[in-house]
Amino acid sequence: MSERSTESTGEPSCGCKVGRVAGEYDLTGLDEELVTYWTDQSEDRYSTRDLAAHVNQRILESALVEAGLQYRDGEVENTYRLLTDDDVSSGTRVQTRKELERDGVPVEDIESDFVSHQTVYNHLTACLEASLESPSDEERIERSRDKLGALRNRTSAVTADTIEQLDRNDVLEIGEFDVLVDVTVTCKDCRQQYTVRDLLEQGGCDCESVADD
Ligand SMILES: [Zn+2]
Ligand SMILES: [Zn+2]
Repeated sequence: MSERSTESTGEPSCGCKVGRVAGEYDLTGLDEELVTYWTDQSEDRYSTRDLAAHVNQRILESALVEAGLQYRDGEVENTYRLLTDDDVSSGTRVQTRKELERDGVPVEDIESDFVSHQTVYNHLTACLEASLESPSDEERIERSRDKLGALRNRTSAVTADTIEQLDRNDVLEIGEFDVLVDVTVTCKDCRQQYTVRDLLEQGGCDCESVADD
């Protein structure tokens, strides 16, 4: 236990590890940052791994400040990389840790306070009740197509099984057979019929697209 935790003025926003370290290291505005970066619509959107690194770098930064160290631009990121990146040799890592300890930075405490991407994800979804933007129209259509396709396959399989079983028990007689499942949707406005596949494909009934103009 670092003594910082007993002296901390920051209030944890929740009971999970992210909330605890945010309070302990006084990481103001962290929750807002996490939600904003995570739900960013652009290509700059952070993954939960990126977010975990961000939280951990803020922890490290806070600890460097606490130890009264001056650090230059990019130095926190670089030190974090030296401590955590798999590509860094163990010799370099040991050296980095030694230097930090010599400067009065409690490396071990800090490392045990580092959070994982899973912890960040849980904090975002459970504590902050954040969620990623709802799926795009294309994604919705695609998911629906998959769902209905699976349902059709299942209907086909169950139908074939049932008929085979009746045939085996001599309740029903049939030769070789195929089952074709075709779901039809009829627009009540114009009586036009579509297979569900075509309807998804064209994104609506013809009569509706005319009415929209
Ligand atoms: Zn939390
Ligand atoms: Zn119609």
